[in-house]
Amino acid sequence: MYDPKSLKAEEFINHDEILDTLKYADENKDNKELIRQILDKAALTKGISHREASVLLACDDKEVEEEIFALAKRIKDEFYGNRIVLFAPLYLSNYCVNGCVYCPYHHQNKHIARKKLSQEDIKREVIALQDMGHKRLALEAGEDPVNNPIEYILDCIKTVYSINHKNGAIRRVNVNIAATTVEEYKMLKDAGIGTYILFQETYHKDSYEKLHPTGPKHNYAWHTEAMDRAMEAGIDDVGLGVLFGLDMYRYELAGLLMHAEHLEAAHGVGPHTISVPRVRAAEDINPDDFDGGVDGGITDDLFAKIIAIIRIAVPYTGMIMSTRENQQMRERALQLGISQVSGASKTSVGGYDEPEEDIDDNSAQFEVEDRRTLDEVIKWLIDLGFIPSFCTACYREGRTGDRFMDLCKHKQILNCCHPNALMTLKEYLVDYACPETRAAGEALIAKELENIPKEKVRKIAEEYIKEIEHGKRDFRF
Ligand code: SF4
Ligand code: SF4
Repeated sequence: MYDPKSLKAEEFINHDEILDTLKYADENKDNKELIRQILDKAALTKGISHREASVLLACDDKEVEEEIFALAKRIKDEFYGNRIVLFAPLYLSNYCVNGCVYCPYHHQNKHIARKKLSQEDIKREVIALQDMGHKRLALEAGEDPVNNPIEYILDCIKTVYSINHKNGAIRRVNVNIAATTVEEYKMLKDAGIGTYILFQETYHKDSYEKLHPTGPKHNYAWHTEAMDRAMEAGIDDVGLGVLFGLDMYRYELAGLLMHAEHLEAAHGVGPHTISVPRVRAAEDINPDDFDGGVDGGITDDLFAKIIAIIRIAVPYTGMIMSTRENQQMRERALQLGISQVSGASKTSVGGYDEPEEDIDDNSAQFEVEDRRTLDEVIKWLIDLGFIPSFCTACYREGRTGDRFMDLCKHKQILNCCHPNALMTLKEYLVDYACPETRAAGEALIAKELENIPKEKVRKIAEEYIKEIEHGKRDFRF
């Protein structure tokens, strides 16, 4: 039976409820009155349910779609302003005991070079990332109790936080590792991680089991209940995601939103972030093998609609898009509510210190579509009118879990995001930018300082920005 408060996977992601939802959506996709009500409710910016979102997804009226797009943009602006947070993934190890059929790290793959970074390797990788200007990382590792035990991950986190090269520092480490026990989540929490990220891949249990034929990840309930264990361990910022293209996208959207509703109902805190990856080509992997949407994939137009609907359904969540997507899709998604993007990512183990083109071992997890440098990404964001932000303040100020949600839902977090974005951009411009990016960034900062509504905050931000020019670092609200 469907119960959002239950801690059992098959009750909070209930198959029958999803099938009923999809039937309801089909029956109402042309119901103008209901769709109007849903859009009006969405416009109150307090979110909509998985059922309501599914009706909007089923509706193919172009005017409705335009309204959804405009609303998604408005919600992003009202909650987070025009800042876009930047991060980079750091692949620690591609040893993996699982058999995920869509990932080249699956253990049957004998063509791929297996690698695991030593702590010395990590230092080199982190210095290379700091030299670009990154301040926020997502650590990624396959599941392998022998090669990548929790002790290894904890050592890596410690190493990452310990390195200060020139003015560089990694100030927030998010972690994307396999579902684990409450005890191990507690260790991650004690190590000072930001968000614990785990993608569900697909919420459809039968497909899930087929796509994960072997290894611990085969266990649907263990994987789906991972966020509950993380929260029990005290990690109150968790990141959800579906690998779009693996199964029926309508099923996935309903499941994803039910997961968000479950976290709120059971723990009082919804997902800190939602990522929207799409299946990509990689060594051993062909996206056309997965019948996930229309014509074996999710088209860009459909993907844009899904992103916008997630944004209006869960207005408070950060939404992340990686370099799996090309510049054009990323540009479009930025107008639909994406609030965080990766830049200059390498998806192979050891790819930052040693240029990937020099690594002849096909160890990348997937093909990157956006290959621009971080400086090019920063300039691009500035030219589009966004403030590139390297802010990591909330976690470090104790604004996590329900404290963060409360500020965010009341549209107060923007008062921190905006000045923090300007100050961290200033750091980037002084330490890493090319002259052209620096000039564009300085002009943006001057303009955006005027947009800080509270005079007191504006004066402090101006003061801090002057101090950054004179060598001081790491100011935050
Ligand atoms: Fe391993 Fe993760 Fe790849 Fe699955 S998706 S094979 S668990 S690295
Ligand atoms: Fe993120 Fe908080 Fe910084 Fe805003 S103030 S960018 S929510 S860390």
